[in-house]
Amino acid sequence: MMYIGIDDTDSKKGMCTTYIGALLARELSIMGLPRLVRLNPNIPYKTRGNAAICMRTDSVDPIPKVKEIVFENCMSGLRTNPGIVALECEKVPKIIRDFYFRACSEHVNLEDAYEIINKTGAQSFHLGNGRGLIGALASIGYLGVSTYEMIAYRKSKNYCKPRKISQESVYSMDSLFYPETFDNISLNKKRILIMPNGPDPILYAIRGTNKKSVQDAASMIKALEPVSMVQCFETNQASDDHIVEKNISQLKPYDCASIRIEVTESPRIIPGGHLIFKATDKTGSIDCAAYKKSGTLRDNLLHLLPGDILNIYGGMGKHINTFNIEKVYIISAIKKQTPDIPVCCGRKMTSDGRKSGYKCRICSKKNRKTKSKLISRQLSKGIYDADPGSRRHLSRPKFLDEYKSKK
Ligand code: ATP
Repeated sequence: MMYIGIDDTDSKKGMCTTYIGALLARELSIMGLPRLVRLNPNIPYKTRGNAAICMRTDSVDPIPKVKEIVFENCMSGLRTNPGIVALECEKVPKIIRDFYFRACSEHVNLEDAYEIINKTGAQSFHLGNGRGLIGALASIGYLGVSTYEMIAYRKSKNYCKPRKISQESVYSMDSLFYPETFDNISLNKKRILIMPNGPDPILYAIRGTNKKSVQDAASMIKALEPVSMVQCFETNQASDDHIVEKNISQLKPYDCASIRIEVTESPRIIPGGHLIFKATDKTGSIDCAAYKKSGTLRDNLLHLLPGDILNIYGGMGKHINTFNIEKVYIISAIKKQTPDIPVCCGRKMTSDGRKSGYKCRICSKKNRKTKSKLISRQLSKGIYDADPGSRRHLSRPKFLDEYKSKK
């Protein structure tokens, strides 16, 4: 059996690696479904969702066909560096499985990919600087199935035109198939999320927990323009495979991590609508950010108070002073007290000086008892994550675990 990984075939001007995967799946004799493998979402070279494709084939001498399809259909340009890795094996070597996890959670070097390609006797082919070999190799190392995605592609003559599908059919599909298919529409039900924007070949894509549901759901979508192909993929989406437990001092640029922290300064909203707060662990301190687009995640985190303990999930950009949050688990929210002001003559009494209690402004009666009451907190123990549409592909949404545990 041969594993074939491909990556970096598209650019902001068009194409999509899944499309080339779907073309290949039609030309080769493939075993099972092709795999859509998402890698580190913080990587700056990505075009959109940092996706690579892997498939297993028992075709005889498949490489000439693979090279022809990949290199004839990929985009060209400085930011497109297509790579193909092919490995003949029954069991994927551990060194490649480990590389997959590293490529999900950190920045890896092309030299590391070449070293593994050489050690394992894999074949590799590339254009440009070869960077696509990183994703191509890593995709071979993904062996599980977390979720499925069914993708419908457009005819090339329509690529730059607005996408046309019946919105009603999406709402009907969602009402029948949610949560087995998810991220179909926005939380307020006003926005359709299965259609991307931009010049790529995807008309719509439906994500779900099992193959049958995404296939049945797709058959309910009424496309108002011709569909050129439909392809189902196994994916690592919603797996949290990018999350590695770390402490603040271990963070490097582009890392993904979960860190147990204590909030040290109340959150504030900065211009642009993003939320920022300061936090520490025993190794250092860091600014934590939740983007405006994360919706309810940002709104919930606004209620954090100094002293709250949480696990933050997310990652770093180029600079290591800010951690971008994609999900949190609140371990404990502090109990905050506020003065319980007594009432006299139908009005709240006023302070009679520090530590002296209260005085009635009407009858001058004094009350020396300074009681306090607990403020009820908006946040309780549990997971808070981003809205559909702004969630990272790899991030496991809270509702999936709730739904699984109910089943
Ligand atoms: P699309 O999702 O639209 O197919 P994309 O967002 O996957 O595009 P690519 O054009 O494939 O983006 O570019 C991502 C590039 O980053 C590839 O060359 C890939 O090999 C490389 N890459 C992926 N993960 C890592 C990583 N962890 N470290 C370094 N480079 C990586």
